[in-house]
Amino acid sequence: RRLSFSWFSDGYVVVAVKCRPLTEAERQRSRHIIQVTDDQNLVILDPDLSKDYLERIQNRSKERRYSFDHVFASGCTNADVYRNISSTIVGVIQGLNATVFAYGSTGSGKTYTMVGTRKDPGLMVLSFHTIFDLIKNDESSDIFEVSCSYLEVYNEVIYDLLEKSSGHLELREDPEHGIVVAGLRRIKVQSADKILELLNVGNSRRKTETTEANATSSRSHAVLEITVKRKQKNQYKSQILCGKLALVDLAGSERASETQSGGQKLRDGANINRSLLALANCINALGKQQKKGLAYVPYRNSKLTRILKDGLSGNSQTVMVATISPADDQYHHTVNTLKYADRAK
Ligand code: ADP
Ligand code: MG
Repeated sequence: RRLSFSWFSDGYVVVAVKCRPLTEAERQRSRHIIQVTDDQNLVILDPDLSKDYLERIQNRSKERRYSFDHVFASGCTNADVYRNISSTIVGVIQGLNATVFAYGSTGSGKTYTMVGTRKDPGLMVLSFHTIFDLIKNDESSDIFEVSCSYLEVYNEVIYDLLEKSSGHLELREDPEHGIVVAGLRRIKVQSADKILELLNVGNSRRKTETTEANATSSRSHAVLEITVKRKQKNQYKSQILCGKLALVDLAGSERASETQSGGQKLRDGANINRSLLALANCINALGKQQKKGLAYVPYRNSKLTRILKDGLSGNSQTVMVATISPADDQYHHTVNTLKYADRAK
């Protein structure tokens, strides 16, 4: 059973765009082509035209302007992003579901945003701390149980990242629990540090493959799910609320056609696109639902969207963080990401 709050509309989607800084190497050879005009708007300059500032001013159609719920410029930290989305996480200990995912091309900062560094902890880490802090400071006599699972979707096959050598896992429709991944390990955790440890072990098992697009291109979607069970007890009744938070580091969004290698890698690309496209279509339908009422949400079209269904539908909140590079040589990737994010609004 879920609590419902009046300010949570059904299928609530928030779209944020985060621009990373130029890396040390990029600073030597690349131009910074992203201008954040305020906390909701950004401009991307056509790299060919930005050479000539005057020409750009006269030909505004060559600039692309976008607006989103939140826009984070190069200097922003993960904590800045988190501050704007943390209300999504708070509901999880009240039995609500939420999904947070990072979308963008390889090297745009997805893993940095989700996992982060010691100095700039990512959204996964900040979320764990919020959940455990909320539980610690909870004044009710409710009993909480936190558990987590971590899986990977690679080539439309599901693997358990918490198992040493996981076989293929299948999705099942369970009459009581909805769509479940059969045999997926779920580990009870008592602290944020324990989840971090599991996260690190799981990350080391993720499938990465060398492609010509990027030497460490990640071709898999990684889904960390934290479940909070809350046993409410008072003298009249006892009930259990169950909230789920899915944190997703998506595969690189670049198209397979941009990768020059054939065979296996092309197949990976095609399947990844299928999951990403299916996700876009679901998010898009949820956006419509938000504005116009009921819409059909096509969850069934990929493994990823079936897995995420609970966290995208009903009384759930979804946050999409689209990550972009500011470098001029990433222009086409960046435009594609912004278009995808724009569709998701
Ligand atoms: P992805 O997971 O999308 O492939 P990464 O998260 O690995 O990309 O980021 C690519 C590179 O950019 C890494 O070297 C990462 O450390 C760096 N980076 C990303 N975001 C930031 C940031 N906000 N500040 C500093 N460096 C960043
Ligand atoms: Mg990554």
